[in-house]
Amino acid sequence: MAVGFDYVIVGGGTAGCVLAARLSQDAATRVCMIEAGGKDTNLLIHMPVGFARMTTGPLTWGLVTAPQKHANNREIPYAQARVLGGGSSINAEVFTRGHPSDYDRWAAEEGAQGWEFAAIQKYFLRSEDNSMLSGALHGTGGPLGVSNIPDPNPMSLAFVKSCQERGIPFNPDFNGAEQAGAGLYQTTTRNNRRCSAAVGYLRPALGRKNLTVVTGALVLRIVFKGRRAVGVEYRVGGETIVAAAEAEVIVTSGAIGSPKLMMLSGVGPAAHLQSHGIEVVEDVAGVGQNLHDHFGIDTVAELNGHQSLDKYGKPLWMAWAGLQYALFKSGPVTSNVVEGGAFWYADGSGPNPDLQFHFLCGAGAEAGVPSVPKGSSGITLNSYTLRPKARGSVTLRSADPSDNPVVDPNYLGHPDDLRVSVEGIRISLDILHQPSLQQHVRHIRFPDNTMRSQADFEAYARQYGRTSYHPTCTCKMGMDEMSVVDPQLRVRGLDGLRICDSSVMPSLVGSNTNAPTIMIAEKAADLIRGNH
Ligand SMILES: Cc1cc2nc3c(=O)[nH]c(=O)nc-3n(C[C@H](O)[C@H](O)[C@H](O)COP(=O)(O)OP(=O)(O)OC[C@H]3O[C@@H](n4cnc5c(N)ncnc54)[C@H](O)[C@@H]3O)c2cc1C
Repeated sequence: MAVGFDYVIVGGGTAGCVLAARLSQDAATRVCMIEAGGKDTNLLIHMPVGFARMTTGPLTWGLVTAPQKHANNREIPYAQARVLGGGSSINAEVFTRGHPSDYDRWAAEEGAQGWEFAAIQKYFLRSEDNSMLSGALHGTGGPLGVSNIPDPNPMSLAFVKSCQERGIPFNPDFNGAEQAGAGLYQTTTRNNRRCSAAVGYLRPALGRKNLTVVTGALVLRIVFKGRRAVGVEYRVGGETIVAAAEAEVIVTSGAIGSPKLMMLSGVGPAAHLQSHGIEVVEDVAGVGQNLHDHFGIDTVAELNGHQSLDKYGKPLWMAWAGLQYALFKSGPVTSNVVEGGAFWYADGSGPNPDLQFHFLCGAGAEAGVPSVPKGSSGITLNSYTLRPKARGSVTLRSADPSDNPVVDPNYLGHPDDLRVSVEGIRISLDILHQPSLQQHVRHIRFPDNTMRSQADFEAYARQYGRTSYHPTCTCKMGMDEMSVVDPQLRVRGLDGLRICDSSVMPSLVGSNTNAPTIMIAEKAADLIRGNH
């Protein structure tokens, strides 16, 4: 069976939802978006606190990394979303957009002409609907709701004060003129509900007759006629269907899914494709290479009472919080858990911060993260190297589209990453030891108090680091031989095919990656429509 459209978008995640909404604004343009996961009907998605319950399970792909050579050969859980809205439906809602110098580096050093901050800032502003901040650095009236955390947990406030006691100044706006400092994150929420790309962008467009959204459908491959992408083949409910694209196929399957789909379709490193019996359409060496991710290392403290959100894991408290939210849209359910944050310098100063911290007012919230003894409450302070130098890869496990690919982030594969990571742990411990937090802390559980030497800290990083969910750069944009797309996001050597998601970043930005991905998709919409 075959159905025809102008644009077929593969993947209904963060970028896919933005593009589906923007491209279908023109009623004469027929757009189809195909998502492997289901609709975003799970109630946890829409409650800000739900993040803590969604890093494993049915809304994810169930990935684990390949054994990590520099991290004790561990196979680390690797949550990536499989649901409408993608990462924006299950993420921690932290809204940061990177340092302007990240985009200037893309343009000046990495072949991404037209992506310098001055050129792309308008896309951040166009996307944003900030409930409080406005002016040159913040947008209002855009599709993406951004708000302050309405009722921060007292531990998050103690964290911000402890940072100041450690010499990290208060910063009221990480997306303002200055990134460095400590404060509370703004979140992608509106009226105390999550504002995913599916909620902010897609929902208002769903009534359009020219927009078709297919869920629960795995795209198997891109269909080529000669060197031109003319559609995609997908499987839904046991049936295989071809969606024809008269204008373009737009790949937005994320930094793991996009290179996988390209390779299954015959676009990638020729020898690797041939080793799986896949016919080569175009030999593009960079597909799946250049994987960057943030390697987050947690420190966990047990509290001397139940000051954090952990107590709401108990049935009675949970019922109380649920009732408060149902009746008044207030209380602990409005928390994204990762309330506090900081950007700071491993060596005390520098042109830009090279470490980011996330403070969680709870312990053991995410898959694979250490916790406190049962019955106690805890807090977690996580740090990562903002611009890691190690490069990993995504390769095919087999030619079967239902197999997950092999994801090897190569964590700590560069000595500088280990050095900066260790400084992150040291600063985290310093912060936990400051008076504002210390008065609430019974024990620091992870790491325990036996850590002394540099070697101890390095061993801790290798044993406890894990993904911070920011895979990027696996189909990087640029002009060199390892780039996969050009600065218009067109796949090298082929027609009718673009990649427009987090995989096209030339290098990882120094922040969380959802807002930068939305910016990429906003600009992609203009590139595709010719409005740039
Ligand atoms: C647990 C978690 C927490 C995070 N926390 C934050 C945060 O607090 N702040 C922040 O800024 N960023 C955060 N991120 C990162 C952010 O959400 C991602 O960078 C962003 O979602 C990437 O967008 P994308 O469009 O590139 O990919 P995704 O949003 O992952 O979308 C890709 C979509 O394509 C679908 N897909 C893949 N392959 C196929 C196929 N073959 N056929 C059909 N569909 C397919 C997937 O199911 C998915 O829905 C987090 C991510 C995760 C997973």
